[in-house]
Amino acid sequence: MEHKKESIIHIGFDDTDSLNGGCTTYLALAIIKNISNRCKFLDYPRLIRNNPNIPWKTRGNGSIGITIETERENIEFIKQEILKQIEKHHQKDENTNPGIVLIEGDIPKKVQEFAIQALVKNISIKEAEKLAEKFCLFYHSIGNGRGLIGGLAAVGNQLEPKKEDFTFELIAYRTEEFIGTKRKISEKSVYKMDQLLAPNVFNNIDSETNKVLIYPAGKDPVLFGLRGETPSVVLEAFSLVETEEPIDGYCIFRTNQGTDQHFKFADSLAENYGVFKGKIEVIEKPITIHGGHVFFKGQICDSGKEVDVAAFEPSKSFKKIINQLLSEDILMAYGGVKFKKEFKKHSIHLEKCELIFLSQHYIEEAPFCPQCSKRMTSDGYQKGYKCKKCGYKDKAMIKTQKVIERNLEKKLIIPPEQAQRHLVKPFRRYDMQMKTGFEMIEEWWKEYSKV
Ligand SMILES: [Zn+2]
Repeated sequence: MEHKKESIIHIGFDDTDSLNGGCTTYLALAIIKNISNRCKFLDYPRLIRNNPNIPWKTRGNGSIGITIETERENIEFIKQEILKQIEKHHQKDENTNPGIVLIEGDIPKKVQEFAIQALVKNISIKEAEKLAEKFCLFYHSIGNGRGLIGGLAAVGNQLEPKKEDFTFELIAYRTEEFIGTKRKISEKSVYKMDQLLAPNVFNNIDSETNKVLIYPAGKDPVLFGLRGETPSVVLEAFSLVETEEPIDGYCIFRTNQGTDQHFKFADSLAENYGVFKGKIEVIEKPITIHGGHVFFKGQICDSGKEVDVAAFEPSKSFKKIINQLLSEDILMAYGGVKFKKEFKKHSIHLEKCELIFLSQHYIEEAPFCPQCSKRMTSDGYQKGYKCKKCGYKDKAMIKTQKVIERNLEKKLIIPPEQAQRHLVKPFRRYDMQMKTGFEMIEEWWKEYSKV
């Protein structure tokens, strides 16, 4: 008789939702539910946010990685089950290009490196196909194959404790008959939950407007998502949030959300669709353009390359600070890069920045009259000043210089929560220790209504 052999399988998939609704995390729960009696889960499903600057991304550019241990004879069943669920759940339109990968055993170094690239660069589908061909036990894509990029990235980005920062999100789902209707969630219960569990939960409420941020507005099956530091804290948060509609189920994901992982691997090259990190000197005072966006001309200190730097709506307080910058100020800038054809220049969309040098600027003014303290007027070029009130004249008098006062400090600034992208680390997480591990809690997913 042949021995039963255990095998570790990494599953990655992406791009199953489009702007029309659907949600890759919902598919994850469907897959987990259907393979759970054939395997052991070695990790929470990982919700990996990849480069947010890719224009053809799905909302949030998130992909899912699942790591299981199973007997080899189950692999075919699991593969078929995943394909069945993808077929059932993915949004069938031309902008949705699902991809799925299965890798057995240790994750190849090349796949790990690819995952880092997927965080910060614009990667070609060809590159992903080449890797999949070489290293996957199985891969499959629908449409143009773009989903293979996220699938491989979710497998390669293991968020290894002690090496990478990570957080958790509990996502709760709606029952079918409520999808498309207005979500009825007690905001009072959300405020209370946040108060009770801070700082171990984050991005529940926008600190500038007090707006509750846990639920999306769209037609997708997500009722709300709760972000926190540990599986047990998001589960506790879940028990505190009150809703007026039934919950279909929930799942806890381990994720790189709120960790700045993309900035960890960013550079100052300013390549199109890349993630930027580097010092920039302000060349010209910022201007406000249509739509309320603020931008200024800057120069990357490492390369001397000229770029436009922009702060967008709705980051109001952030823009207010950026608006006060003057030439020769230097900031450590973090953001996304886009090449603007019309200006033949790269533009950096700020996600956060740190003011590291504030230059002195002066305004020149006519001096005050030493006799009556009135402001004097020029008596002509190099003729000094005269006082219109008392008639005092002085040929040797010159303009006075006054420092321009700015309400700025050398410090880190981050847009308010509602303007933050998924990957950006919020202020609340800045004092958190690097995690050395995580525990698998028993009730990390649950389905209430149906099997
Ligand atoms: Zn006078």
